[in-house]
Amino acid sequence: STADHPDLLADLNDAQRDAVTHTGGPLLVVAGAGSGKTRVLTRRIAYLLAERGVHQGQIMAITFTNKAAAEMRDRVGELVGVRSNTMWVSTFHSMCVRLLRREAKTAGLGSNFSIYDADDSKRLLTLVARDLDLNTKRYTPRTLAGQISNLKNELVDHTDAASKASNELERTVAEVYAEYQRRLQLANALDFDDLIMRTVHLLQAFPEVTEYYRRRFRHVLVDEYQDTNHAQYTLVRELVGTGTSPSGVEPAELCVVGDADQSIYAFRGATIRNIEEFERDFPEARTIMLEQNYRSTQTILSAANAVISRNPNRRDKRLWSDLGAGDSIVGYVADSEHDEAAFVAGEIDALADSGEAGYSDVAVFYRTNNQSRVFEEIFIRLGLPYRVVGGVRFYERREVRDALAYLRVLANPEDTVSLRRILNVPKRGIGERAEAAVAHHAERERLSFSAALRAAADGRIPDLNSRAQRNIAAFVTLLDELGERVERGDDVADVLEAVLERTGYRDGLAESDDPQDATRLDNLTELVTVAREFAESAVPAEAAEAAEAAEAVDELDEEGEEQALPAGSLAAFLERVSLVADADSLPAPDGGDAEDTEQSDSGMVTLMTVHTAKGLEYPVVFGTGMEDGIFPHMRALGEEAELAEERRLAYVAVTRAQRRLYLSRALTRTAWGQPMSNPASRFLTEIPGELVEWRRSAPSGDSFGGSGAPRAATTWAGSGQGSGQSGPVRGTASTGWKDAVPMKLDVGDRVSHDKYGLGTVVATEGTGPRATATIDFGASGQLKLMLIGSVPMSKL
Ligand code: ATP
Ligand code: MG
Repeated sequence: STADHPDLLADLNDAQRDAVTHTGGPLLVVAGAGSGKTRVLTRRIAYLLAERGVHQGQIMAITFTNKAAAEMRDRVGELVGVRSNTMWVSTFHSMCVRLLRREAKTAGLGSNFSIYDADDSKRLLTLVARDLDLNTKRYTPRTLAGQISNLKNELVDHTDAASKASNELERTVAEVYAEYQRRLQLANALDFDDLIMRTVHLLQAFPEVTEYYRRRFRHVLVDEYQDTNHAQYTLVRELVGTGTSPSGVEPAELCVVGDADQSIYAFRGATIRNIEEFERDFPEARTIMLEQNYRSTQTILSAANAVISRNPNRRDKRLWSDLGAGDSIVGYVADSEHDEAAFVAGEIDALADSGEAGYSDVAVFYRTNNQSRVFEEIFIRLGLPYRVVGGVRFYERREVRDALAYLRVLANPEDTVSLRRILNVPKRGIGERAEAAVAHHAERERLSFSAALRAAADGRIPDLNSRAQRNIAAFVTLLDELGERVERGDDVADVLEAVLERTGYRDGLAESDDPQDATRLDNLTELVTVAREFAESAVPAEAAEAAEAAEAVDELDEEGEEQALPAGSLAAFLERVSLVADADSLPAPDGGDAEDTEQSDSGMVTLMTVHTAKGLEYPVVFGTGMEDGIFPHMRALGEEAELAEERRLAYVAVTRAQRRLYLSRALTRTAWGQPMSNPASRFLTEIPGELVEWRRSAPSGDSFGGSGAPRAATTWAGSGQGSGQSGPVRGTASTGWKDAVPMKLDVGDRVSHDKYGLGTVVATEGTGPRATATIDFGASGQLKLMLIGSVPMSKL
């Protein structure tokens, strides 16, 4: 009874409570940002467990990123304790991997299948395109990958693609698609889109399998529903069922929550269509709207509404907040991206110094990953603790990929892409000619590449010279020896150490004079650490057992057997890495799910793309690079549909902020390898002027000259047009302080600061790039300025 858990419903509004307690038919919660959709989902799970006697094994919750999954498990954990550990809370991809491993035999897969990420797919497509003699200028791996991905997201397999093809491009894509699938199958590998498509096909082809999961998962819950694509939608429908099955299984209870205004993955095939399909397939569905936003101040919400309301064809929502107007949005026009980063760093420092916000309260957003570098540089120089989320590309670094390729080959010898990657890395005298001979032999004999390699080692490929044959034989022996360690159950970190040792990879880097190789060595050490931590952390068995003991529910108690992969095994590690390395997930030298949530509390500023920020909230948000051509992305200019998506992205960015929002842009920036002068982002200019306080605004006219003195605020709305032509900049005029890097200051010096005006140096510390000064600005109080060279200040 609710009496035992009075708090489960207490802090919910009426509409939220309805959603949490709704019983029976499908439920769709559509509502704007920060209205408590995720809270409803989490609370509903707790309510199911506490009030409706549902067992955690009967719940399947799906989120969009690993980070979101970890947060949800945490939030549910706070409410229901260790029982959350064994619940299926995961991304679509992780869920499918889990299901496919369980059903590998039925699905026609080896249970040790590899997961190919975007880079692996492209490598394979490059091989395929080459072998099919395609014009790779016209059919780039990227184009092919995109086309095939679209088809898979629409659940079109290669036979359908071939029969539907109506022009040359489509026919070529279909041909590549077929060959690509054949090679994937040979390599016992699946790409990301396959994970979903294969699961759907499995469920559609094997009613008894579907029946099992339908019996098992009586509650399916999906967050960020607006970003599911057709394949994912179909997967959900198959799991839930739309009617009573032949053997009498009723459809599961389905609850999806989303916001059409936050649909930001149209490029991945997610469309508003999923909401329409939902209404069509589940006509009896109930829809609940939420209108109160609990996250942001009214100022922030008004800004968000001003931006999103310009999108055509949307259902208008009345989102309101009773948190009050709060602080104005702070606007800043920087001279360059470096100036912008310095401003952001300075503000973060000031907020921290004043106690207004800790580092972990702050997030810095940018449109594309490459924009993080400038921030990272200055944060490092200032000693500002930060972490980059998403696309840190740790797992994309060459040496890391090489090491992982070894592990993948050990886990799955048929993984051709990985095997060919390491064939001659480090160099061992197996050149391209030898590789081609092996590949040719494989093709001719219809063997896998790995089988052909063994044939080569045994001297069964005649057109191979004896030196190459010897080298291949040595390589095969090396792999076998490493493989034995895996067989006897060495943990991942030990296997990895052995790989680095035995292949000579580590020594090669250690002996090199190239400073980059030192970094590579560090990264490998980091990878070993990740593996070590993984092996050690993979023992939640006690907690799981306790949870199982706490509640024994008949046939569902099979979580032990459920873990298809032994915790801490090589395969489990690779699976984690593959899924974590997905574009919208956490990178992670700092580990995976559970660890991340701890990390986020440990006092670091978070840097991330807006895409990654979906679903999250921060007291202080910096939206940077607010320029037409950056955000909205250059690609979207003049494209109505893409512009609408960029606008939704801007809506997502703004609505992450709870109390304070900064929006900045730079007059000039080097982007796409060119100095550019971009006009203000249209999203910036759409925000009503009275909501924004400009710390520094664009100079009037299109000259960038001017002194270091504070500039008079000019009307920013029009200034975009004023200095609007994008293109190369003809020489950046001096603005005084910029050229003064690094400035040498002594006690008693007088300085002029853009924001704080005149001041006197009262103390200095350190030298060079780490020099700091404490300056008395009189009226504005004392201010400690770290890194003298990078603040908007000049010596008088
Ligand atoms: P998004 O669209 O960004 O994913 P959302 O709709 O999922 O947002 P939540 O993240 O669930 O929103 O909630 C936003 C914030 O408001 C959270 O901090 C949450 O704890 C808080 N919140 C939600 N509902 C209530 C409520 N009834 N009372 C107090 N706080 C609430
Ligand atoms: Mg949410």
